Amino acid sequence: MGKMEEIIALGKDNIMNTYAQTPVVFDHGKGAHLYSVDGKCYIDCVAGIAVNALGYGNEKIEKAVNEVLKDGIFHVSNLYYNKWAPKAAAKLNSLAGSKKVFFCNSGAEANEAALKIARKYGSRTGRSRIISFSHSFHGRTYGAMTLTGQEKYQKGFFPVVPDISYAVYNDLDSVKALAGDDVCAVFVEPVQGEGGIVPAEKDFLAGLRKLCDEKDMLLIFDCVQTGLGRTGKIFAFQHYDIKPDVMSLAKALGGGLPFAACLAFDKAADVLCPGEHASTFGGNALSSALCLVVLEELENGLADEAAKKGMLLKKGLEEIAAKHPDKCLTARGLGLMEGLVLKVPPKEVVSACFEKGLLVCSAGYDVLRFVPPLVISNEDISKALEILDEVLS
Ligand SMILES: *Cc1c(COP(=O)(O)O)cnc(C)c1O
Repeated sequence: MGKMEEIIALGKDNIMNTYAQTPVVFDHGKGAHLYSVDGKCYIDCVAGIAVNALGYGNEKIEKAVNEVLKDGIFHVSNLYYNKWAPKAAAKLNSLAGSKKVFFCNSGAEANEAALKIARKYGSRTGRSRIISFSHSFHGRTYGAMTLTGQEKYQKGFFPVVPDISYAVYNDLDSVKALAGDDVCAVFVEPVQGEGGIVPAEKDFLAGLRKLCDEKDMLLIFDCVQTGLGRTGKIFAFQHYDIKPDVMSLAKALGGGLPFAACLAFDKAADVLCPGEHASTFGGNALSSALCLVVLEELENGLADEAAKKGMLLKKGLEEIAAKHPDKCLTARGLGLMEGLVLKVPPKEVVSACFEKGLLVCSAGYDVLRFVPPLVISNEDISKALEILDEVLS
């Protein structure tokens, strides 16, 4: 057995069987390239599922790690302050226009914080219902899983969290029909990610903002996947000229480390009081320091770069869709969060691309998803498109 097979066998024997894993072990990476233990090079259009915005082997990340390492402190508990979390929170608030930040470790956990803010906000007036959307995805913990409007994620795990209803995405009337006096919040992704890379229409989000203001409901954006430059703006809501009351961030936030945040804007900023919520690792020194690096890179033009590269990728995917009408329907997305809607099972295309050195993944049941590192080169985008074209031919 080779070295790679040995590691895979060890994983199969010992890691709980919750993932359908491709039999490859990665050894190292640089930029948007990943190298397997057996020496093959891959162009990465998955980026750890929209996590590795700065790619692999980033020197600024390495420098920040070393700086924190010198102090010898990764964690001191939120009973005290560390040097980095306040800076990361201040930078997030100044970029987003939010007032307060709660730090935690994963997208689901950030959404749980948002859910608690929503219920606490509603408790003043006796409201508990939350409107979410069909085909949404918010994570795997009970609250986040219940917000997730897809049967396959809830099957076998009932009973779920009560008082959560599902409206139809991009259909404002379906929200109005559910928005009774018992509703305290609306939870929405500006671009549905796992549901199949579906951008919200401008009128839809503007309508949600207006409806939430009229009915005193909190508008909560799950920007776990769409945040931090992915869509070509630092935050996806900046495409829509409106602001949420609460926003969750994770995935790219920690430069590859587990890190997440729940941002509260004006009227949601002081809903939670001391003792009402906590996370042991939330805002730890190392993750906060890496978060600062990510935010500084975004400020220095990384989001604009993602917008330009996103256009290149979209154009290429549209050309491929037109060239292979028997296998493709259309391309859709925002920035470097693009989907190619297929007429054939994405799984087969994903594995054929893998064999040719391209990492892509699926979203929904018929979409091929592209969420590469934001630092991917134009040459790698072209090469990725070439490989995809070959696979579909
Ligand atoms: C990935 C994702 C989550 C869940 O994040 P975890 O870190 O896996 O808990 C939540 N919402 C959206 C939109 C996501 O893409």
